[in-house]
Amino acid sequence: MTDDPRPQGFDTLAIHAGAEPDPATGARQVPIYQSTAFQFRDAAHAARLFGLQEVGYIYSRLTNPTVSALQARVAALEGGAGAVCCSSGHAAQIMALFPLMGPGLNIVASSRLYGGTVTQFSQTIRRFGWSCRFVDLDDHDAVRAAIDDDTRAIFCESISNPGGYVTDIPAIAGIADEAGIPLIVDNTLATPFLCRPLEQGATLVVHSLTKYLTGNGTVMGGAVIDSGRFDWSASGKFPSLSDPEPAYHGLRFHETFGAAAFTFHSIAIGLRDLGMTLNPQAAHYVLMGIETLGLRMERHVANAQRVAEWLEADPRVAEVTYAGLQGSPWHERVQRLYPKGAGALFTIRLKGGYDACVAAIEKLQMISHVANLGDARTLAIHPASTTHSQLTEAQQIAAGAGPDLVRLSIGIENPEDIIADLDRALG
Ligand SMILES: *Cc1c(COP(=O)(O)O)cnc(C)c1O
Repeated sequence: MTDDPRPQGFDTLAIHAGAEPDPATGARQVPIYQSTAFQFRDAAHAARLFGLQEVGYIYSRLTNPTVSALQARVAALEGGAGAVCCSSGHAAQIMALFPLMGPGLNIVASSRLYGGTVTQFSQTIRRFGWSCRFVDLDDHDAVRAAIDDDTRAIFCESISNPGGYVTDIPAIAGIADEAGIPLIVDNTLATPFLCRPLEQGATLVVHSLTKYLTGNGTVMGGAVIDSGRFDWSASGKFPSLSDPEPAYHGLRFHETFGAAAFTFHSIAIGLRDLGMTLNPQAAHYVLMGIETLGLRMERHVANAQRVAEWLEADPRVAEVTYAGLQGSPWHERVQRLYPKGAGALFTIRLKGGYDACVAAIEKLQMISHVANLGDARTLAIHPASTTHSQLTEAQQIAAGAGPDLVRLSIGIENPEDIIADLDRALG
């Protein structure tokens, strides 16, 4: 893209990474390659592509040029060796675990996670014979005690949904290193603008592209980004990556592809067989969104800080969990690890309890009552009766989603208008 040896800045990469002018037409914006299949030059070319001896396009369940551009862009923004995109954030979580796991194996995950992830990990993955142990990541002895010979990863969120808890990624990455297993970080809420988990020692990053990266609530998507640094062959614990793969004539992914092993496996086996493919239209929307990620995140964070300070001073509000506030237990950690801010999602606890939460939600006018976050619009929801309703009350409280809480995803409107709507709703 440029001969300049300096590393390019975040906002430059957000616009340019993965997006050369189209070689066939010169189109400056990444075209939507709305094609299921791609014509082979000749029979030998086709055979090389199928044998993974040459990288190229065969069939859009595996690879598509619009999706490839997005993969290159998210890998660049996270500082990874490669990325694979898939159909949703939840698909990305399965795609991240799939090469690592097998029947009887487990993961250790933070107790503070997106409600849907708690359900996926506590119930659905059991159908594959996988299991999950949830622990408080601030209790390092408990994390170490939860890891055994069958543990294949630690999973956490950088900033967690909904409680605004902030993970000490370097500390947890150190525990993962001691155990010889990868740390997987869901970086959806922080985005690579606020936090780059791979630089703090994580091996894999997963994203719901649905949220801030797209930024306008239009499409679903997910991504898995690999640091390229984990030694998949060191322990014998990751045979999918280190041992001969029968479907590709005994090819060993790690030996053959090195730093790209995880990404190649995710495409050649994961997308091929699980089929959780991102479509090129959705990839286009995400690419458009990412162009303004830095600008939007600055505004999201500034608005969240201002609204959180206003709410904290309001007598109707018992607690605001925003880690950008001085009194937050995570305030020091945010300043050390997330210096550009603590994101734009937090919860407020209302003195009137469950009933006051429901009443406030119903009185909102500009702010939308929806099950989403990371939109340009400010959004509100009562997690205990919606996103976290499949959890027990104890799990809800552990996840920072107790019955007397409202979750706010602060948008990029004028902050005075967000505050005016909240003031009216709190009645
Ligand atoms: C929304 C979300 C997910 C799930 O992503 P989808 O794109 O909805 O499948 C996972 N993790 C976090 C933190 C989320 O906010």
